[in-house]
Amino acid sequence: GEMEEDRDNVGKLYEDFVQSSTCKGALQAFNVLCRRLDLDPADNDIFYSSLKAKLTSWKAQALWSKLDKRMSHKEYKKGQACVGTKCLIIGGGPCGLRTAIELALMGAKVVVIEKRDSFARNNVLHLWPYTIHDLRGLGAKKFYGKFCAGAIDHISIQKLQLVLLKVALIVAVEFHINVEFVKLLEPPEDQENEGMGWRAAIRPADHPVANFEFDVVVGADGRRNTLEGFKRKEFRGKLAIAITANFINRNTTAEARVEEISGVAFIFNQKFFLDLKEEAGIDLENIVYYRDNTHYFVMTAKKQSLLDKGVVIHDYIDTQMLLSSENVNQEALLCYAREAADFGTNYQLPTLDFAMNHCGQPDVAMFDFTNMYASENAALVRERFGHQLLVALVGDSLLEPFWPMGTGCARGFLAAFDTAWMVKSWAQGRTALEVLAERESIYRLLPQTTTENIGKNFEQYTIDPGTRYPNLNSACLRPHQVRHLYISTELSSCSLQRNVTIRRPVNLSRQESEIRPTRLLTWCQKQTEGFRNVMITDLTSSWKSGIALCALIHRFKPQLIDFDSLNEEDHSANLQLALDVSEREFGIASFTSGQELSVGQELDKTKMITYLSKFYELGVDENN
Ligand code: FAD
Repeated sequence: GEMEEDRDNVGKLYEDFVQSSTCKGALQAFNVLCRRLDLDPADNDIFYSSLKAKLTSWKAQALWSKLDKRMSHKEYKKGQACVGTKCLIIGGGPCGLRTAIELALMGAKVVVIEKRDSFARNNVLHLWPYTIHDLRGLGAKKFYGKFCAGAIDHISIQKLQLVLLKVALIVAVEFHINVEFVKLLEPPEDQENEGMGWRAAIRPADHPVANFEFDVVVGADGRRNTLEGFKRKEFRGKLAIAITANFINRNTTAEARVEEISGVAFIFNQKFFLDLKEEAGIDLENIVYYRDNTHYFVMTAKKQSLLDKGVVIHDYIDTQMLLSSENVNQEALLCYAREAADFGTNYQLPTLDFAMNHCGQPDVAMFDFTNMYASENAALVRERFGHQLLVALVGDSLLEPFWPMGTGCARGFLAAFDTAWMVKSWAQGRTALEVLAERESIYRLLPQTTTENIGKNFEQYTIDPGTRYPNLNSACLRPHQVRHLYISTELSSCSLQRNVTIRRPVNLSRQESEIRPTRLLTWCQKQTEGFRNVMITDLTSSWKSGIALCALIHRFKPQLIDFDSLNEEDHSANLQLALDVSEREFGIASFTSGQELSVGQELDKTKMITYLSKFYELGVDENN
């Protein structure tokens, strides 16, 4: 009897966790459950299996069977693919959480920091069929019974975050609310702290996460990405002003009968928009209506009608000024949104009372989509004092979506999988430039993805991009083309320069012609001073044995070449080693092969100057 009671008790705690309806509630219920079962999520390698062993109710088992199936993907290598890799994820939005889950499934240690303390967004995300399939596979329905029932293909942002948070906790992701990322902290240079790696400056500064050292950091903090080093591309479109509005859903049958307006249908009904303009003076380019937790509307309004209806007070060319709070009449905006919603649903919604946002205000907002941003690159590697850090972006930080089209979550999840794939390659020891080249090749496909052109066999989707993108060429960029993404300069000192030099690799910011051969020679001599058997007197024959080049590389990155083990007689092997390492690690393209040289070819002086200049540029950047 006692044992049974015990089991009921545990079952109840599990149920509390599953049913919890807020972020804090879920975290609390999870803690209570763990304490009761005497489990510590910090033991991330055994946490899931221990939890599974202790929670055996049929309800829990239904979830385990879903998750077990997911975990059986061969890419995860039974949860061993990323053992020992430590990841920090900035932002607990849908994409940060989705990425966290994938990394945890590969055995990585994952910490997510979220600056807010609640999931409060009522707005609704459109889901592509594959995302619905993906979320079902994670057990979404176990946490949220109404998830995408029938023909429904959307979910409120807060509900989605909550589902993903619960899954993340179960797979031993560490999640902290009220923690804001400020900036990256380089590993310390001094000897005493040798071995200490990359960390983050956070607010509050004394939070334990401040001590977390990681080798992967993922920026998932939304459209205003805070990680430095990523240049943003701007898509300047025509003026696009979007309005979102949420009304209370009382879940009556009358409400349930009202037809939704899906994101794809809007362009076909010109008459609708003409009538709306005629009747109400509201001029829209599109409108979407989803019935979810709230009655949610998103529409794109034409500026003139906003001016005519007094929503926007003065007409400014500058959109930021145009939509600044001083220039918007909030009351008029509410009326505008309500009128559009009423007309759009053919006056069928019995009441249109605004739902409240997390500030206790009517949940209506206006956003500017005239300029949309995408990061030029999806990832980069930083290296300081021998510590490499893989830096990646996902979600809105990577590629900003246009809400009425509803691409945010769909493309966001694709990027989450692609990032997980990259972290896997990274953890398995592929070189930085190889990993980056592949990631950038895959990233090129992302902005073009549609429901039509991605893989149709959702059952086979894994983190392997080949299962999802039909026309994948994951080698369209070569390692040497991404060498500007390998950054070994000091963190903030060069951020300004990086932001203004557009499409120009940092390492090559100086003109090659600037370096005079005599200066280059002196520089090479200085760098290789004291190396055994290295004697540089010119820019050609002194380099033939390969030893000098090996010394130069060793000077920058001692870990790349074991200098003492080189055999000075074996010219072609030394040279080949140096050429390979330089190409792989610094992206400096080789100008010849060790083989060619050993058959007696002379070194071409011009080629040598160009080649050695690359090291000079690397070195100068590093020393600045
Ligand atoms: P987000 O969902 O934006 O999540 C980023 C998270 O990072 C947030 O929780 C934020 O609090 C946190 N964060 C930010 N900075 C830091 C920091 N320094 N440290 C720690 N944490 C940080 N899409 C639609 O399709 N339709 C909509 O109507 C819609 N409305 C939106 C309304 C708002 C206010 C916002 C911000 C986004 C909206 N979106 C909408 C976009 C949609 O939410 C995203 O496309 C989707 O959620 C995936 O985004 P994400 O996870 O990359 O980022």
